[in-house]
Amino acid sequence: MQKVFLLSISIIYGLICFAQKQKTIVKKTDTYTLKQTTTYYKLGNKNIGIVSYKYNNNPNVVMINVHDDEATAIETSKQVLRRTGGTLIKISNDSQRLITFKLEGVSYKFDPNRMFTQKGITSSLKYYGHYSPAAAAKVKAFAAFILSKLPAVNSTLIALHNNHRGDYSINTYENGSLSKDKREIYIDSIRATDDFFLTTDEIVYNKIRSYGYNVALQNNSDANDDGSLSIYYGKKNKSYVNVETEHGKPEVQFNMLMTVINTPKRINTNALVYNYTISDSMEESSIKSLKVYFGNRQIGSMLSAYYAQAYKKIIGQLEIEKGFGIYSNSDLFLLKNNNTPQMEIRIDPTREKKPFDRLKETIGVVMGQSAPSIKSVP
Ligand SMILES: [Zn+2]
Repeated sequence: MQKVFLLSISIIYGLICFAQKQKTIVKKTDTYTLKQTTTYYKLGNKNIGIVSYKYNNNPNVVMINVHDDEATAIETSKQVLRRTGGTLIKISNDSQRLITFKLEGVSYKFDPNRMFTQKGITSSLKYYGHYSPAAAAKVKAFAAFILSKLPAVNSTLIALHNNHRGDYSINTYENGSLSKDKREIYIDSIRATDDFFLTTDEIVYNKIRSYGYNVALQNNSDANDDGSLSIYYGKKNKSYVNVETEHGKPEVQFNMLMTVINTPKRINTNALVYNYTISDSMEESSIKSLKVYFGNRQIGSMLSAYYAQAYKKIIGQLEIEKGFGIYSNSDLFLLKNNNTPQMEIRIDPTREKKPFDRLKETIGVVMGQSAPSIKSVP
């Protein structure tokens, strides 16, 4: 009896604590349900709200906004999430980019996108004024709290940012101050240089490139540790993408966000991902789950297929096991016999065999008939 009594006290106490720290609002419309939860975090003398906007129930879409002055990004992400479902986590900081707090009478300031590593915290505090080990420890705990608010799902974390014209662009990674941070880069001549992506993930990189957007693939092992979220995710080899658009261009940001939602996942972790295109008109669903064969052996799988209106082609990603080399004399055939389509790689020994760069090139799928029995060893 006494145990039950103690237990109920602790439950009530827990609920009271919970209620003090959190505020939840639920909004229902014809098209979506929004559960908005604000959790308050005490950083020195300051109470900072961390707001979670959960639209419907899609655990595969997770977005984060750390700079509270980037209004276009925040508004656009909500428009996207109303349509797709998913969660946005944002720091509520009086529409300011930098966070200020006081500890034992001293005022500290830091950039919340520089707080995810020790090195970043130290240099950000020093850059904006005061530094102390105690203040750095507070910032570190705050960063850990933000990370704990992200739903633990195996999907790409989408970070939202806005920049001002000319400040920070794809050129910063091409030949500017961050050029050493990239492993690969794709620049599309028709896109504004301020609108671009930065990602830690090859699959996301290839997908964005196939849509013709500016994108830099971060060099996860060598990029300069500035404490940003892309560095933190890169060090952990986790999938992350930064969506950067110029302030005041919501329609551009909307389309860019839609591009990185539901990026395909590797089926075999020991495989490499390639881009492909198919020029013939085909039903997307009939190819996106096909297996890729070499002779009788399965060496890969199709990961995605989508019809790109702008190119009038099917574009997508496929994976091939690491041990199987793709070269310039490899052809990928889509065979449509007996109504069962099949993907098959064949080698043309009469052609020159040069390395194929999967981060720069795209495999053009050849439409074919049932296999003749000429197969050679790669
Ligand atoms: Zn930002």
